[in-house]
Amino acid sequence: MSDKPLAPATLAAQGLGFIEPVTKAVVQPIHVSTTFERDSDNQYSAGRCYSRADNPTFDQVEATLAALEQGTDALVFSSGMAAATACFLALDPGDHVIAPTVMYWALRNWLTTFASRWGLKVSLVDTTKLDELRAAVQPGKTKLIWLETPSNPLWHVTDIAAAADIAHQAGAKLAVDSTVAATVFTQPLTLGADLVMHAATKYLNGHSDVIAGALIAGPTLCDAGHTMSFDSPVRPPDIFARLSAEPDGYWKRVRTIRSQCGGVLGSFEAWLLMRGLRTLLPRVRWATTSAQQLAERLAEHPAIAEVLYPGLPSFAGHEVARRQMIGGFGAMLSIRLKAGELAAIATAAKVQLWKRATSLGGVESLLEHRASIEGHGSPCPFDLLRLSVGIEDADDLFGDLDQALQAVAK
Ligand SMILES: *Cc1c(COP(=O)(O)O)cnc(C)c1O
Repeated sequence: MSDKPLAPATLAAQGLGFIEPVTKAVVQPIHVSTTFERDSDNQYSAGRCYSRADNPTFDQVEATLAALEQGTDALVFSSGMAAATACFLALDPGDHVIAPTVMYWALRNWLTTFASRWGLKVSLVDTTKLDELRAAVQPGKTKLIWLETPSNPLWHVTDIAAAADIAHQAGAKLAVDSTVAATVFTQPLTLGADLVMHAATKYLNGHSDVIAGALIAGPTLCDAGHTMSFDSPVRPPDIFARLSAEPDGYWKRVRTIRSQCGGVLGSFEAWLLMRGLRTLLPRVRWATTSAQQLAERLAEHPAIAEVLYPGLPSFAGHEVARRQMIGGFGAMLSIRLKAGELAAIATAAKVQLWKRATSLGGVESLLEHRASIEGHGSPCPFDLLRLSVGIEDADDLFGDLDQALQAVAK
């Protein structure tokens, strides 16, 4: 092979080219064993001891995620929330964190209730406004800035590189929930972030049949001393990496939270996640092409007041998105109805192809009256429907929405 790095589509399709060494199978087996035998000299030469700490079924999916995000290490978790909350629980009581006002509602809710009682000081700011972000930093106290971009459900776009500068000047780390960019359009670690989080439930798995989360560390958090490459995709035995990492390192604490608090992914779920990840690039690109078309067509629709989508030149975050989203703007958009909340709920009732359901990132298109689920404190307007565009035909998707909008307008 030439020295040119392999493209993400190649890395994902072959899952870094893992071959099972005994049988030469091109698909890895599901390891269900909870425990691993010690050697007669009392060592664990295979690097495993117990599968609450880690499981061989994680190896390929974690290595592939690290490669796609250009990170040095990755950990899969039992859900996106388990991954996200580990990043905050690894801090100390009294530490200050900053997160966006517009973000995944369950995490915002956890931050303002549980995390605050736990002793973290939490500031929610409009992270798209860099002056506000800078003003919220408390030098010496702010330890983590959390971004989500594009962010749920208004698709606000935050400048990752600028936020990384602000975080690092204050001695804080920058973590990015990059679920919507899905590794495909943005690699936050290359823009200066220290850590990337994914709700792997969404695009990475892509088939609405696994709850999972992932964290990917960059070299500032984990100088792994090895790279995840196509030629040598094998991670060094994890147990030794853990034992030898510096004892109070942030990433080490994150790993310890997974193994000791037990938010560990099941074997079958890890295997399904790897199966879904292999088709990540074609799925996400196809859905994104449709989302761009739908956004443009819906922006002209007489029943619609506004389309929120980073790929529209009229959208507030478009300029930043053009810089940090390469090759597309993702497959999530929201529409606001001129006729208001009841019309939005009625439109959701009239669609036939789109499924009325929460979540996103699957092959089937979903639509949701978002304010109904977010509840108290939500910045989500009541006239808004959130659309997760799947891989069905774009004309079929438009036609179904159009008939629903027209039926409600009558
Ligand atoms: C779904 C989601 C989460 C939470 O992931 P779960 O797997 O449901 O716990 C976090 N962030 C974003 C942006 C999400 O869409």
